[in-house]
Amino acid sequence: MMIESEWGKLLDEYRSIEIRVGKLMTQICSPYCRVCPSPCCRLDICKEAVESPFLLAVHGAGISFDAKNGYLGCSGCRLTVGRPPICHAFVCDRIMNDQKDDLHRYAIDCVGELMTYIGKRAWRGRQLVEAMIKSNLAAIDLVMFRDRLQDARAALVILEPYFTESKPWDEVQWRTLIKVRKQH
Ligand code: SF4
Ligand code: SF4
Repeated sequence: MMIESEWGKLLDEYRSIEIRVGKLMTQICSPYCRVCPSPCCRLDICKEAVESPFLLAVHGAGISFDAKNGYLGCSGCRLTVGRPPICHAFVCDRIMNDQKDDLHRYAIDCVGELMTYIGKRAWRGRQLVEAMIKSNLAAIDLVMFRDRLQDARAALVILEPYFTESKPWDEVQWRTLIKVRKQH
């Protein structure tokens, strides 16, 4: 049975990782997204953040959902946390093709996919955001979820300085990143 305080702590950890992922992706993508002629946000994707009990628990429904624009505001997404994982994972070709090398593209993929990694197979062998009713959350594999949060934190410690320092990764760091990528 899920203990509420334990669940609350894990949700806090998820939020803090999502904030870090969001900051990093903003740093990489905002020069392009700010002037994008065809933004990729879509109402049906925003809706996932309202329909998924897990994402609702993460963002707490404190931000209103607009029937026309979903969570898209004039300066981008209004959700800091609780975005559908695909929102962090999708990086368009315009951004990818402009990166200096494949390693930078690999690092972006690692960052973008972290939220997907955390929820992967964490609910009855399926992605956490596929749980569609609140009672489903009782069946979350908490051990797996906790381990994934830990892996994601370890990956972020490597990835956060990478985009400013561009230092090559050692063997241990590579293993950490390969672990979060190989699930995809
Ligand atoms: S990710 Fe690409 S397509 Fe989407 S808003 Fe940014 S620049 Fe535009
Ligand atoms: S990033 Fe935000 S506004 Fe864009 S599709 Fe996702 S939830 Fe909607």
